[in-house]
Amino acid sequence: MSASSSLVADTVWKTIESTQSVTEEQLSILHFLFGKNLERATKIVDQRGVKKISGQPSGRSIFQVVGESRRKEEYFCFPEHYCACYSFFYDIVNRGEQLCCKHQLAARLAAALGAFIDVKVSDEQLALLLIKL
Ligand SMILES: [Zn+2]
Repeated sequence: MSASSSLVADTVWKTIESTQSVTEEQLSILHFLFGKNLERATKIVDQRGVKKISGQPSGRSIFQVVGESRRKEEYFCFPEHYCACYSFFYDIVNRGEQLCCKHQLAARLAAALGAFIDVKVSDEQLALLLIKL
């Protein structure tokens, strides 16, 4: 993906975040940029497959996104930087073909729309999760 399309994506995300809603037009831009992965991401969000795990009292957080396979694996995910899934390492880090995976898209969409399940844990519990990444 080129730098300009990543800039377009950022602008669309910021607008969605500021209005907490998504229009048909914004969805079609995102679909143009992310293709099938966006369809998969909206499906995950619709199925309430995104959890935001926040450590208390720091408020630091990580997302946990359910996969699409029948095993319903869950992946830890930072929407803008990292996902624990195979596709993230293979398609994004190794081949540089995509900007992010469907879990990152799902987390970002859910975060922008407030459509995630809020899970509060202690900072110690959060630290234990992060160690395992
Ligand atoms: Zn992923």
